[in-house]
Amino acid sequence: MSESSCDSLSNSMIMTCFCNELARCFTSRNPLNPGRRFYRCSKPKMENLRESLNAIKIERDNLKKKFENLEILNYFEVKK
Ligand SMILES: [Zn+2]
Repeated sequence: MSESSCDSLSNSMIMTCFCNELARCFTSRNPLNPGRRFYRCSKPKMENLRESLNAIKIERDNLKKKFENLEILNYFEVKK
């Protein structure tokens, strides 16, 4: 996605935050990454951080499960 496509996207598409709330387009004021566009809902930052952490934990558990499945698959491949 190019930098300039953000505004047109926010008008034509419904974007959602990682917490599944409706998201708005924001422009980053982070000095390390100025002007970067991102989507996020209007919830307070702390709330967002907590939900972001939960989302990451769920993602981590999913990856862990996938990895375990791969290990099992690999085990049977070796056995063959
Ligand atoms: Zn959110």
